[in-house]
Amino acid sequence: MIAGVRTQPQNGVLDIKLFIDGAYVDALSGKTFESRNPATNEVIAHVAEAGSADVDRAAKAARRAFEDGRWSKRKVGERVAILKRFADGIRRNLRDLAELETLDTGKPIRESFGFDVPRAAQNIEYFAEAIAHAGTEAYPVDGDFLNYVLRQPVGVAGCISPWNLPLLLLTWKLGPALACGNSVVCKPAEFTPITASMLGTIANEAGIPPGVLNIVQGYGPDAAGSAITAHPEIDILSFTGDSKTGRVIMRAASETLKDVSFELGGKGAGVVFADCDLEKAVEQLIRATFQNQGEVCLAAPRLLIERPIFAEFCERFEHAARALRFGDPLDSSTTIGALIDREHLDRVSEFVASAPSEGAQLLFGGERPALDDAFASGHFLEPTAFVGVHPTMRICQEEVFGPVVTLAPFDGEDEVIDIVNGTRYGLAATIWTRDLARAHRVAARVRTGLTWINCWYVRDLRTPFGGMHESGIGREGGIRSLDFYSEIKNVCLAL
Ligand code: NAD
Repeated sequence: MIAGVRTQPQNGVLDIKLFIDGAYVDALSGKTFESRNPATNEVIAHVAEAGSADVDRAAKAARRAFEDGRWSKRKVGERVAILKRFADGIRRNLRDLAELETLDTGKPIRESFGFDVPRAAQNIEYFAEAIAHAGTEAYPVDGDFLNYVLRQPVGVAGCISPWNLPLLLLTWKLGPALACGNSVVCKPAEFTPITASMLGTIANEAGIPPGVLNIVQGYGPDAAGSAITAHPEIDILSFTGDSKTGRVIMRAASETLKDVSFELGGKGAGVVFADCDLEKAVEQLIRATFQNQGEVCLAAPRLLIERPIFAEFCERFEHAARALRFGDPLDSSTTIGALIDREHLDRVSEFVASAPSEGAQLLFGGERPALDDAFASGHFLEPTAFVGVHPTMRICQEEVFGPVVTLAPFDGEDEVIDIVNGTRYGLAATIWTRDLARAHRVAARVRTGLTWINCWYVRDLRTPFGGMHESGIGREGGIRSLDFYSEIKNVCLAL
């Protein structure tokens, strides 16, 4: 087992420390908090709780590392080789990382093993390759002048990530931040500290110099999170999380004029036209609604189905949802796991309980599944679907972030586009039709940063990723990530 995670096991409970300046340390206050397994509600880790003094220590270590050039001035080829070793280290620890991610999040092991952790390695490797192959712009002016563009690291990047895809989303930030030559102070969500903590050891083994990657653990408001957003030594902020938190962070970041990149909430839609491949649509829309227990920002919890196939779609969808398998998330046959914590389960359950008061009718689900004793205290909720909904209802407007979906019929392109565009979010949509002209038309008119046609959550890391309206600010992915984590300088030379 990797050091830094089980340094002092107490009754099988993990001991998670902060990773600052290349070493695992306790919080200066000595404070700790608990992390629980969502599937059992048992304590699985005691975690050092960083406060502003720890963030200060991490930010200063990051600044020192940046200024003395141990990473920022290193030859690109050397940085790339180290980052590839870092990615390989993640792959070598795939089994441990996947098991710990599942213990910490409650998600099925088939997702953490088959998707999250491999993608985490890919995030690092892809951005190492991207920087290795990045070119630059040049603009000659009439043979008299030559403009060219230099890409340089910014300094210290603050990276704050959520709990739903902990390692995947953290590495989505670390990959480009480190590839561009920055130092980093990052904070995983307080619910999911474990796999991030393992990155410290993997980074040391790969040869990332001390101080370049710093991992603080702890809470957001008035704690480690807000200390990162306010710290003067932290130059830029990449944040993924709730839109409400985004507002708070933007205000805090304005004090020190940090550049921000925000990936925020969503209320995605699945649009199913009558001419689609229905079998495939149902199969993929089950993923788009219930994968990761619906705790996916890119999910499609609003399913809009063309009226002629509405009844058949509902029937097939219900059949497929009932086939999802609850159980031990570490069991590879489990296909739906537990929600992140009791409070979140209560919040999701409140949406389910209140939807009928607005007129929605429960199609299926809504109960806590009966599981054997070991998982009786877990935060499980059945896949749940409502029909009889109107687009203005709360259940159709607010992000539930759980296994709860609405199904509604529509009668034409204009109507469905209005519904898709009728929330304050604008992150993702998935469109199902065999009519390619229509697919392109609808894709162009929906106001979402990501639109999939006849597929869902197919990611190419070169493509722009981000949302409109309250779903985010800026785009990451490919060259856009490299731009966010770089200072872009123009140089003009008289010839
Ligand atoms: P959250 O905003 O509560 O927390 C996210 C992170 O921010 C955590 O690390 C938390 O500790 C920290 N934080 C909270 N308040 C803070 C503050 N005042 N200052 C600094 N840091 C603070 O979000 P969550 O509940 O962890 O995640 C779920 C949300 O994330 C959903 O809205 C989901 O849609 C969104 N999300 C978006 C994307 C995307 O790519 N757009 C991806 C995944 C999740």
